[in-house]
Amino acid sequence: MLRSLLAILLLGCTAILAVALTVEGISERARKLHFSSVVVDTHDDTTQRLVDGNDFDLAQRAPNGSIDIPRMREGNLSAIFFSIWIPSKITGPTAVKRALTQIEAVREQVRRHPKDLALATTAAEVRQAREHGKIAALLGVEGGHMINSDLAVLRQFAALGVRYMTLTHSGNDEWADSSTDKPVHNGLSDFGKDVVREMNRLGVMVDISHVSDKTFYDALAISKAPLVASHSSCRAICDAPRNMTDQMMKDLAAKGGVIQINYHVAFLSQEFRDAEKNHPEINEQIAAKVDKKCGDNEACQLMEGDRLTREAVEAGKLPRVGYEKIIEHIDHAGKLVGADHVGLGSDFDGANMPYGMEDASKLPLITEALLKKGYSESDIRKILGENTLRVMEEVERVSREATAH
Ligand SMILES: [Zn+2]
Repeated sequence: MLRSLLAILLLGCTAILAVALTVEGISERARKLHFSSVVVDTHDDTTQRLVDGNDFDLAQRAPNGSIDIPRMREGNLSAIFFSIWIPSKITGPTAVKRALTQIEAVREQVRRHPKDLALATTAAEVRQAREHGKIAALLGVEGGHMINSDLAVLRQFAALGVRYMTLTHSGNDEWADSSTDKPVHNGLSDFGKDVVREMNRLGVMVDISHVSDKTFYDALAISKAPLVASHSSCRAICDAPRNMTDQMMKDLAAKGGVIQINYHVAFLSQEFRDAEKNHPEINEQIAAKVDKKCGDNEACQLMEGDRLTREAVEAGKLPRVGYEKIIEHIDHAGKLVGADHVGLGSDFDGANMPYGMEDASKLPLITEALLKKGYSESDIRKILGENTLRVMEEVERVSREATAH
C-alpha cells in the first residue's frame, strides 16, 4: 500500500524513481543490466489505437492496453516496431490506403513528440535515438496483402520507413500461403519470390511470422538476408500452427535469423489453447460481446477482447497463464539454437497478455528471470535487442550490396 502510494506521489518525478517502484522484486543486477541494454520489441499492435478516431496519444499514460511513452520508459523499451495491420480479407487499393493511413499515424506521433520519439530506419538510428534519450519508433507491415501485388507499393512503404513486412497475415494473400488458411500457392508464388528479392534490395526485413511452413522454407531459400519471425513462439511447447517447429528454428538460425517470442497466451500455453478448443463457446461469447461493443473499431476489439479474456480467466473458465511462460519459450529457443537467435516480439495491444506482463513497464522481469536461469549478461543483452539490431545491420548490408554499382 505504502509502495503504491509512493509510486503515485513520485509520478512526474524522475523516471528512475518511478521505475524503482513500478516493477517489484527486481534485483539490482537485473535493473542495471536491463536499463543499460537496448531493448527492442519487434511487434506491437498499438497503431490501431492511433487511427479510426480513437484519439489516442502515446504521451498519455493509458488506463488500458500495454503501450504508451510513460510505460515504455518505465520498462526501458528502447525501440518499438509499430505494426501496420489490417485484416487479410481487406485487399486491393483499400488495403494500400489503410496501410498508408496507419504509417502516417505513427509518423504523426513522432512529429508530435520529438523529445520522446525518433523515427528509426536503421540499427544505427536505433542506437542514436537511445543516446539522445528517445525511444526509436519503427514500422513493420503485417501482411503482404497491403502491397496489392505491386512492387511499387512495396517501394513506397520502404521509402516511408517500413523496415519489415510479414509475408502474410492470418489469411493467404495473392502470392503467399498463411499458416492459418488452406494452402493455394504451395508456399510462395513466383511473384512472391520476386517480393522477397525486392525486400532484400530495399533493405526491408523478411518476416515469416504467420506464414505456412512451406512459405517459410521458400522465403529462407530465396532471401539473401537473414529472416525474422517478428512475433512467433515455439510449437514444441504450444502447438499453434503459426508457432515455429524446432527444425524451422534451427534452419532460421543457420541463416542468421531471429525468432522474436510472442507473449500471446494462446501461443504460449498448450493448456490455454486446449481449454479454448474444448470450450469454443467461451470465445464465441467473447466475440459476440466485442462485436456488440466495438463494431468495426479494431483498437476497441483488441482491448475489449483482452479484457473479456481476463474476465473468463478470473471466473475460472480459462487457465491462468503467467509471464514465466514467455521465459520458457525464450529458454527453449535459446537452448535449441543459441542465444544469438532469440528476441522479443510481444504482440502488445494485439493479443491476450499473460499475468505479470500486462504492459511494457514489466519488461525488466524478463531480464530478472533470464539472470535467474543462469544466462550471461551478454546473452541477455542479445535477447533483449542486440540480435534484432544485428539482423537489421545484415539486411542493410545486403541492400547496399544489391544496389551498389
Ligand atoms: Zn500477428
